Amino acid sequence: MQLQVSEIKESGAELEIEESASHFSALADLEQGGVCTFLSPVVVTLNVHKISGMVEIQGRIATEVEIPCKRCLAPTQRNINASFHQTYVDELPQVSGDDGEELELSAAEMGLELFTEGCIDITEEIQQQVLLLLPDHPLCDEQCKGLCLECGVNLNSAQCNCADAKVSINFAVLKDFKVEK
Ligand SMILES: [Zn+2]
Ligand SMILES: [Zn+2]
Repeated sequence: MQLQVSEIKESGAELEIEESASHFSALADLEQGGVCTFLSPVVVTLNVHKISGMVEIQGRIATEVEIPCKRCLAPTQRNINASFHQTYVDELPQVSGDDGEELELSAAEMGLELFTEGCIDITEEIQQQVLLLLPDHPLCDEQCKGLCLECGVNLNSAQCNCADAKVSINFAVLKDFKVEK
């Protein structure tokens, strides 16, 4: 997802770009790895301003993802809404210290992002934001009972006798246990 700086007006612009998640390599990897499925394209709304060679971008990202519940594996849906704010420059400004000497600061240290050949690539920024907001432990419901560890039945919709069976075995053992008098 790229922006041509020459096409950005000084007065600013609002752009809306829609792109399938498979266009983002990190998101495509998630789908291929079975981590989640993107149900809708990634919609990016950008507020772009150009101020004397610097480009300021305020972006909002929205998409919808289906991700298995950590306990019962049922597919659960999540809306992802992220925002980011980044300033891009094609060359780093000169910064001088208190004694007037020129300081060498990296773009990251100045909170800036460099772009080259008049083209700003926001692909990485967007996929990082989506990755950050993917839930680590998604649950279909806070009360999800999960799957039975013995027989694998989904305890939200069915019952099994594994827990009872265990208890009755314990009682059987106890019954034969004679206390020496
Ligand atoms: Zn669940
Ligand atoms: Zn069971």
